[in-house]
Amino acid sequence: MLQGREILLATMHRKEFAIKQAMEETFGCKIVVPKNYDTDQFGTFCGEKERFMSAKKMVVHKAKVAMEQFSYELGMATEGSFGPHPLMPFAALHEELLSFVDVSNQVEIVVIKRTNKTNYAMAEFSYKQSFDDFLSTYLFPSHAIIVREMATNQVIAKGIQTRTDLEMAVEKAFKISKKIRLETDMRAMFNPTRMQIIQDLTLDLIKRIQSICAKCNTYGFGEMQVAGNLPCSSCHSDTQLFKNIIEKCIRCDYQVIKPRADNLYQADPSYCHYCNP
Ligand SMILES: [Zn+2]
Ligand SMILES: [Zn+2]
Repeated sequence: MLQGREILLATMHRKEFAIKQAMEETFGCKIVVPKNYDTDQFGTFCGEKERFMSAKKMVVHKAKVAMEQFSYELGMATEGSFGPHPLMPFAALHEELLSFVDVSNQVEIVVIKRTNKTNYAMAEFSYKQSFDDFLSTYLFPSHAIIVREMATNQVIAKGIQTRTDLEMAVEKAFKISKKIRLETDMRAMFNPTRMQIIQDLTLDLIKRIQSICAKCNTYGFGEMQVAGNLPCSSCHSDTQLFKNIIEKCIRCDYQVIKPRADNLYQADPSYCHYCNP
């Protein structure tokens, strides 16, 4: 199906390192990365532009825009975002999406990973204040740092990977501002933890491409949806926790209902509206 065919990977930040090998070895296809392709038109990590669509739509849109621009029938794109974890205090959440689009077969697959395994962090510092703890906690220098001055909120330097470069950028920032901010650089080529997540996601995508719908033979079977409510283990009323995972065909109505991945069939009463109002 993909044997000998070219797939356009609309990406920058050298994310192809995480994607190319597994795709090519599995399918005998060729992953092509456009030269000097600017995905900044879709928004970047440094807050310079706001994103304007849901991440899932965006990651398909990104692939399609590039496929049109470079005349490809097959395309892929990635989309990552980082923020505070909605459920775990003091933890960060990394959401990464990978899309695959096959226009001639009308196949659009999006795989998503959400994880708290990320070094995403930022902290403000005043002059002479030590930032050594920040650096060691957030994996510098294997993971790069961004320096920002807080007076006008400008990035002084990004992709910093050495102590010398860091100190130069910090000094420059303090000439402009009394406070500076250090941020982890989340671009994949500067962040091995993120690169690993993209690699894992590629394996998820490969599984999806290999899954064929039992009813209509469309490939890409297994779009996930959650359904139902787990009963409370004490009073048996519905809780907010979902009960099942539904794997769906991307084309027809065929679906398979499965238990939760954690095999939970009852919810702790702490999730129950009645037992723990
Ligand atoms: Zn209950
Ligand atoms: Zn189907």
